[in-house]
Amino acid sequence: MNIILLGPPGAGKGTQAKLLEQGRGMKQLSTGDMLRAAVAAGSEIGLKAKAIMDRGDLVSDEVILAVVGERMSQPDIKAGVVFDGFPRTPAQAEALDGMLAARGQKVDAVVEMKVEDEELVKRISGRFTCAACGKGYHDSFDKPKKDGICDVCGGSKFIRRADDNEKTVRDRLTVYNKQTAPLVNYYAKRGNLHSVDGMADIKVVTASIGRILDGI
Ligand code: ADP
Ligand code: AMP
Repeated sequence: MNIILLGPPGAGKGTQAKLLEQGRGMKQLSTGDMLRAAVAAGSEIGLKAKAIMDRGDLVSDEVILAVVGERMSQPDIKAGVVFDGFPRTPAQAEALDGMLAARGQKVDAVVEMKVEDEELVKRISGRFTCAACGKGYHDSFDKPKKDGICDVCGGSKFIRRADDNEKTVRDRLTVYNKQTAPLVNYYAKRGNLHSVDGMADIKVVTASIGRILDGI
């Protein structure tokens, strides 16, 4: 099963994608994580992407589709993918339809996660992740059970993203509304769009997504 978590930055896509990996054995494909890995590795793609990401703009469709195409060719991803942060433009959505059709698959469900702007700013301003396993946390909403120790892997080093500041968040929301929000209509027309209240507690959102996936 291939599903897309569609929503603005801070909606909880990464949080829910990781829970779907644990609960349903699906694979998270986060283009943001892949680009950050490319930046950390100092690769050609990373060098090109860094300044664009720091100012909250979108990396070009051409670069993103090359990165996703490469990942989709790997065998571990055949059983099903949770797309997180991809697609972000109509061109990316069309390309994804083509990539899946080529392997006899489709987008089985798109889950739109609705969250108000001021909540998004609060969430992103308090976001941090475990440097070792990538588990996401929040200063107030989702703290590690033991202060300074990752619940999942026991790691003790945490990182905050360079683009997780209030100014860039507001720019990223503008970019989302302009370039990505039209995808809601794109998928509504195809009949595979579902919406959840992303303002609810993490566990409640997980249960809502679970009900959608069980129903398809
Ligand atoms: P996205 O991947 O959509 O950008 P994240 O999953 O990284 O968003 O979530 C952004 C921040 O909000 C993280 O710090 C996360 O711990 C927190 N968060 C995620 N879902 C919820 C929720 N339902 N309620 C409160 N905080 C949440
Ligand atoms: P994210 O981790 O999803 O919040 O993405 C972080 C940043 O990476 C975005 O602000 C963009 O600059 C870039 N990015 C991630 N995914 C995409 C995509 N599908 N298309 C274009 N840019 C992307």
